[in-house]
Amino acid sequence: MKTSITVLTFVSMLFAGLTTLNAAENAHRAGPKGGRLLESTDPAAEFTLESNHTATITFYDSALKPVPASGQAVTVIADANGEKQTVEFEPKGDSLVSKTALPEGDGYSIVVQFKASADAKPQNFRFKLETHICDGCKLQEYACTCDE
Ligand SMILES: [Zn+2]
Repeated sequence: MKTSITVLTFVSMLFAGLTTLNAAENAHRAGPKGGRLLESTDPAAEFTLESNHTATITFYDSALKPVPASGQAVTVIADANGEKQTVEFEPKGDSLVSKTALPEGDGYSIVVQFKASADAKPQNFRFKLETHICDGCKLQEYACTCDE
């Protein structure tokens, strides 16, 4: 009997572990523009891939009301086709926009490096740039907010 209890405990621990992992990976708040809301930046920042493959960073207060950019610095490092490419951002209106388009295609890894000010410690957000529409939340996969 002792054996089966051990196995049960192990299985439930494993299940709890998997559940936690899923939640951590997929529990994103939806970005107001349908992009990916980067967690734990101040102010909140949303990464949106535009139809011309440039990217926009939009800033929000805690109620997700848009606020103008104010000295934040963002760089994207795209790891496409075995080649790392750095994409710089510049202010445009209230947002930051990429100076160039991101590499062609999708499914590659990117790191969004966010600095609250030019000399702040960078925060890195790594995810896959997948543009197909998620069946669950109808957002592009890189911005998915559900468990699909
Ligand atoms: Zn989804």
